[in-house]
Amino acid sequence: MWSRSPGRTVSPDGTRVAGIQSLHDYMAAANAAYYATRDPLGAAGDFITAPEISQMFGELVGLWFADLALRAGAGASVAYVELGPGRGTLAADALRAMRQAGLAPPVHFVETSPVLRARQQTAVPQATWHEAVESLPTDRPLIVIANEFFDALPIRQYERTARGWRERMVGGVPLRFISGEMDCAEAIPIQLADAPLGAIVERSPASEAILASLAARLAAQGGALLAIDYGYEGPATGDTLQAMKAHAYADPLADAGQRDLTAHVDFAMLASIGRIHGLRPGPCVGQGAFLTALGIDARATALAGRNPQRAGDVAAAKARLTAADQMGSLFKVLALRAPHWPEPAGFA
Ligand code: SAH
Repeated sequence: MWSRSPGRTVSPDGTRVAGIQSLHDYMAAANAAYYATRDPLGAAGDFITAPEISQMFGELVGLWFADLALRAGAGASVAYVELGPGRGTLAADALRAMRQAGLAPPVHFVETSPVLRARQQTAVPQATWHEAVESLPTDRPLIVIANEFFDALPIRQYERTARGWRERMVGGVPLRFISGEMDCAEAIPIQLADAPLGAIVERSPASEAILASLAARLAAQGGALLAIDYGYEGPATGDTLQAMKAHAYADPLADAGQRDLTAHVDFAMLASIGRIHGLRPGPCVGQGAFLTALGIDARATALAGRNPQRAGDVAAAKARLTAADQMGSLFKVLALRAPHWPEPAGFA
């Protein structure tokens, strides 16, 4: 499957590029090739995520889900939806915790990678898979979990140049950044219009479109969305594009399709898109505060008590997930809920 448009040609592995394309199209093609061909998670892969660090993460998300569904009076009708579920670890841990609370919702995964779908099938065999959010069920409330999903979607970058705002393109051999020709001032949030020369503004059109589509659904059907990712509350300037290979930072323009490309998530943008489409956003809090409010200390004590020889590992995992200098504050949590749904736990 080659993607073509005037002036560019990208092979499925993203390596053959003729002419110039937007950073957005490059990132989309490179990540599609990357995720389609491997399981990138874990020690032997390129990066690790919270659910792979400890079962406590998925379990607490599961209890969060059960508490919200039960208080909304939707325990019998709600579906569990996850966007980009990776190895299915978060879902498996969450569903196990939910069963303890008497909840066994149907499971729907939105996943494009065949390799990761196969992993998810082993972890959660009863799931139903979707290519995109549009085919999710329309007849029931949905609680949607997205952990490190939005960061993997392609971004557009705009740079303030002497000629005005220009989109960042990539081209040449070796690949390098090139300034686009068209004026892009209309894409820049008004608060940033006068940013200094060299400033970079990012937008994630795919994140905005997926959220808009889901939000309209949730507002009509009931439910909520929980987004957990590294990010910031914009509008802000800054180049957050990064590449990871074998757990180290790498050049995002080298070896297209062979390294994980991500960008930080603008949580204020997600909240505002949700609000426009009828949802109520809560506050954006650090992952550390969220997991602590949900009871990670008690869960860690219980796990360590049952398995004293693993007490050190449990304590290390808890610190990794919650400490301010690890994942506790760079990673943020935002919940958006249908107007008639109760406030979710974890944000007080
Ligand atoms: N949530 C998991 C995996 C994070 S990696 C975890 O926390 O471990 C990003 C996930 O999003 C992968 O499962 C990847 O295949 C999926 N993904 C990336 N782009 C996607 C897209 N456009 N649509 C659906 N899934 C996508």
